[in-house]
Amino acid sequence: MARFTLEVFAFEIIRAMELITILNHCHHHRGFVYQYARFGPDKKTIEVDVRPRQGATAVCSGCHQPAPGYDRLPERRFEFIPFWGFLVFLLYRMRRVSCRRCGVVVEEVPWSDGKHQSTKAHMLFLARWARRLSWKETAEAFRTSWDRVCDAVEYVVGWGLEHRTLESIRAIGVDEIQYAKGHKYLTLVYQIDQGLTRLLWIGKQRTIESFQDFFTVIGEKLASQIEFVCSDMWQPYLDVIREKCSQALHILDRFHIVAKMNKALDEVRAAESRRMAQEGHQPLLKKSRWCVLKRKDNLTPQQKFRLRDLLRYNLQTVRAYLLKEDFQQFWQYNSPTWAGMFLDFWCYQAMRSRIEPMKKIARTLRSHREFLLNYFKAKKEFSSGVVEGLNNKAKVTMRKSYGFRTFRILELALYHSLGKLPEPELTHEFF
Ligand SMILES: [Zn+2]
Repeated sequence: MARFTLEVFAFEIIRAMELITILNHCHHHRGFVYQYARFGPDKKTIEVDVRPRQGATAVCSGCHQPAPGYDRLPERRFEFIPFWGFLVFLLYRMRRVSCRRCGVVVEEVPWSDGKHQSTKAHMLFLARWARRLSWKETAEAFRTSWDRVCDAVEYVVGWGLEHRTLESIRAIGVDEIQYAKGHKYLTLVYQIDQGLTRLLWIGKQRTIESFQDFFTVIGEKLASQIEFVCSDMWQPYLDVIREKCSQALHILDRFHIVAKMNKALDEVRAAESRRMAQEGHQPLLKKSRWCVLKRKDNLTPQQKFRLRDLLRYNLQTVRAYLLKEDFQQFWQYNSPTWAGMFLDFWCYQAMRSRIEPMKKIARTLRSHREFLLNYFKAKKEFSSGVVEGLNNKAKVTMRKSYGFRTFRILELALYHSLGKLPEPELTHEFF
């Protein structure tokens, strides 16, 4: 019996020694020594004692300069990257230093930022996984809590925002996204340069003030260098862009115009369908919604057949549908002049259609004529396709349901997945 215990004991020491060798190899910090590694009382954790190297001076966390020691604080546990199913903790008693400049302050240690319970390596580890999995899944996979994952993302995002470079932004896209029940919107500003697309900024609302904040963050110099801005027709955005970015070519978002057109068509169809039912006509427009809203190429054979059938009738819906289909041609032009002539003619026809939703669209397009034609002036280089793609990614990020839907959490999640932020560097690639 005694021999058996001794063997187990010996085995554990060997394993512990190996762990320290590995730690010295991948997570070595000058001025500190890994002393012992052992199982925690529950045998589910590994604890590693850390002590200062003999003669190594502590560094003041205030001014980052060496300073004479003052005293030592009680032992702290710093969570490290889990290892073969064991949670790993570094145990260390922080020194306090008596700094000439800062007074008595706690020392700075290279593995931790001092504020978090996790080591930097562990936080980076969790944050990277939190980009691939949901935060909940990350917490489950690595036996930690959702809050720890959130802390980790907060640390990495904070570091990234502090260290990112914001120079030479040529094109930006601004869009809103709904983020909670009711009418809560975020304003998202993306960089949409050919070589670099990323989320630059998140505003808490979609007001003039929230969008203006973006320009405050980037500063006047950067704002004055922006050449292209893509946005939808939301008036506050238009106003801010005119004020802060007057030199830029302002392009209206194609995607939003198509969406507006579809919405108008849907109104026409719904109203007419109701009217026909009330007047006791055949339910011609029943189940016609997708026939008229979808692009012709995307229709199923059955829907195509229904559409062909519908087109035989002189209905408002049909005429609105033909107007919408006709408008597709607008995007085919290359010359702003020709595109402008087409637009004028289309609006003229729509105004004569006596279909109120289509007339409304025509009025909107007319009043934004200049912005619409900027798309062609920019040689179609910046369409909203990029913005739309980024916005879809943002929606996926939000749908992954990161626990609490507060603005702060959402902001972290969006910057983390779309910001292309730089990350704190480690000496070793752990994953
Ligand atoms: Zn100091």
